[in-house]
Amino acid sequence: MDFLDIHTHKVSTQPGVTSIQSLSLTSDIFLAMPKTKPISVGLHPWFAKIDHLDQQMKYLSVVANQTNVKLIGECGLDRLRGDNLENQIIILEKQIELAERINKPLILHCVKCFAELIAIKDRLKVKVPMIIHGFNKNEELGKQLLDKGFLLSFGLTTLKENAGATKLIQSTHNFFLETDDADISIEEIYQAAAILKKCTVDELKARIFTDWNKLNLI
Ligand SMILES: [Zn+2]
Repeated sequence: MDFLDIHTHKVSTQPGVTSIQSLSLTSDIFLAMPKTKPISVGLHPWFAKIDHLDQQMKYLSVVANQTNVKLIGECGLDRLRGDNLENQIIILEKQIELAERINKPLILHCVKCFAELIAIKDRLKVKVPMIIHGFNKNEELGKQLLDKGFLLSFGLTTLKENAGATKLIQSTHNFFLETDDADISIEEIYQAAAILKKCTVDELKARIFTDWNKLNLI
């Protein structure tokens, strides 16, 4: 059974690891997309611009249909970087519409915009799974997001002495794990999470793969 790294910006060729490389179709949108290895594609809120939205959505709508595109994103909202929030919301909603149309889960980036993200999910009645990647906030916010039907993915926070995130990992069952852009192996993240969950790495791998297979809606 492989380690699943649900969100990474690195190319991984490591045996024993299935990683979902995240690509952003923004500045260099016509770069050739990998055709076989699992990827996620989307318009990253740091780089997406409303003026290019129509053109980029046309391209994304074609690429998103490739069978190796497992998730749409990362897309999302960031109060500290990127276009203004109003425009970021328009850009995100276009990608949500696409994900719903082709029935693929979303991988989301969210910085200081959780209330807005919850409001969008409610308003659009989003049915595809929405995975918030790199979650490192407190247990209360995490629980609120889980109650709203979001899924969470944890990265470096599994290794940090952070009471909030640690408690959340201990009390949450269906989370995913990721390396994002960190210089760390997915094995180390799994080992840290297994300690928090008081289970073995193999048990964690099996549980995460089962949950991943349930997400695969196509
Ligand atoms: Zn990322």
